[in-house]
Amino acid sequence: MIKIPRFRVDPALQGAPALGLWFAYRGDDLLVRLMEGDTRAPPFPHDVPLLEGLEALGLAPVRVQPLGWLDAVPCRSAELPPDAPVPPGFAYVSLRRLHGRIDPDVEAAAGTAYQVQYWDRTHQFCGICGAPLDLEIGRRSKRCTRCAHQHFPHVTPAIIVLVEDGPRILMTRQPRFPPGMYGLVAGFVEPGETFEACAQRETREETGIEIDDIRYFGSQPWPFPHQIMVGFFARRAGGELVVDHDELEEAAWFDRNALPKLPPPLSIARKLIDEWLAQRA
Ligand SMILES: [Zn+2]
Repeated sequence: MIKIPRFRVDPALQGAPALGLWFAYRGDDLLVRLMEGDTRAPPFPHDVPLLEGLEALGLAPVRVQPLGWLDAVPCRSAELPPDAPVPPGFAYVSLRRLHGRIDPDVEAAAGTAYQVQYWDRTHQFCGICGAPLDLEIGRRSKRCTRCAHQHFPHVTPAIIVLVEDGPRILMTRQPRFPPGMYGLVAGFVEPGETFEACAQRETREETGIEIDDIRYFGSQPWPFPHQIMVGFFARRAGGELVVDHDELEEAAWFDRNALPKLPPPLSIARKLIDEWLAQRA
């Protein structure tokens, strides 16, 4: 199953000490401290600048937000201006490049930071009346200064489903995937749809396969910029493989002993596949 992260969301951070971790973004890139003498090294918790470090580094954030706690350490996000300098010994690295290369709990905090600062940056005005929005202290919301409408961050759910048929599973290939790699059926939830209905519809649309026995596996935030992937197992109930080539490059059944190149570790697709294989070991 999916491990519950040590990072815990808390937009209030009431009583939090000033010292903590900063997750500072310049555009899509996170400020990380480089390991001494090794610019290729993945960043670890101590590679994120400490609180009060931003000013000392000559950085002036545009906006800051409380995020939550990594164990007992308060975490905060900062949005840096596009022309923010690169402090000596630091680098700006895209969150996508860091995915799977940093401590998963730090990545959970960094992903939250990205979503929160993205929302803060791109939602400055009311979508109803156009007036500026005020941040509501202690909550993850804003309120319109004119019409008082309350605005919340977008979180966009998407399902991902491992469809089994005896010893084989249904795998799909999108054109943007690395050569030879296959993933699982996935797609965005429509308004008014349950996750289970979405899994059935996406599987049918992409591959022509009907599914039943849909079982929840776990979920994973995917902050690019604000998705959450909800993972399921399911069984083939009928239908024959008809690939939707508008959405997919290819789809096929793969025997568990002859799987193609798999999605990277730590992705929910890979966790679903690993769990399915482990249950059959
Ligand atoms: Zn308004």
